[in-house]
Amino acid sequence: MTEPTPPEPDQDSASFWTALAEHRLVLERCTACGRHRAAPVPACPWCASTGTEQVESPGDGRVYSWVTVHRSFGAPFADQVPYTIALIDLTEGARVLGRLEAGTSPVHAGLAVSARFFDHPSWTELRFAPAPEAS
Ligand SMILES: [Zn+2]
Repeated sequence: MTEPTPPEPDQDSASFWTALAEHRLVLERCTACGRHRAAPVPACPWCASTGTEQVESPGDGRVYSWVTVHRSFGAPFADQVPYTIALIDLTEGARVLGRLEAGTSPVHAGLAVSARFFDHPSWTELRFAPAPEAS
């Protein structure tokens, strides 16, 4: 299996990727308005404050939307199709993108999921699987 190209962390996202490698999901919380965001950015997209603190998330959320990929985009994914990428609304209110683990079916809006950490040779990918209490 060919490995997908690893992410290239920058100044804003390095702590996110480092935390994933430690099997932790870290969100940013705006110190002005209190809203959470998953993708680190220099300022709050709601109030523009640059005040930020990092908080650890248990990674629980619900599927907002999803797409199932049936045709590979390249060699690293040729033996993985079909797979499903979903937008997850975390309990904290942040929205994050992640692959649903194989066998997650049927997928529906509102499906309760929890974070999983998939280790590639040089990086860790955030994935999701149905939460144990999912119905
Ligand atoms: Zn804010």
